[in-house]
Amino acid sequence: MGLRGSDHLGDWVMADWLTKEQRSRNMASIRSTGNKSTEAQFLKILRAAKIWGWRRRPKLKGNPDFVFNEQRVTVFIDGCFWHGCPRCYKMPRDNRSYWKSKVESNRRRDRRTTKLLRSLGWKVIRVWEHTLKSSVGRESVLASLRSELGKAGRSRAGG
Ligand SMILES: [Zn+2]
Repeated sequence: MGLRGSDHLGDWVMADWLTKEQRSRNMASIRSTGNKSTEAQFLKILRAAKIWGWRRRPKLKGNPDFVFNEQRVTVFIDGCFWHGCPRCYKMPRDNRSYWKSKVESNRRRDRRTTKLLRSLGWKVIRVWEHTLKSSVGRESVLASLRSELGKAGRSRAGG
């Protein structure tokens, strides 16, 4: 993800030399790039699967990446690094306590958001970034999405 520069400064640069503000600016830019590319990927997948009726980045609590308003289904694409994917996440070697609390607070926020949206009657589908990289993963995401969308359709039709 380009978190560590390949230059001679090495990894330690990130945390200690930069001010807090610089650091968060730095990370904000990393983060938005990551999100954009996985979102774009998901967009392509939806189009290829001919799934319509979604909106991107709606004004909704927790900022889901995609929302199907009519069926009340939200989709979050979680970056494996930022959200601490159990399969891919590797903590950077330095400043462990910093990264640990960063990722833990992201995960806590994810759980809170999921709970909150569910309590408001939304279905929440969370997709790990790495899932979209394999065709098996993409199929399984589409399957659960179709199933949630289908359920909503059936219940509205009364059975
Ligand atoms: Zn992952």
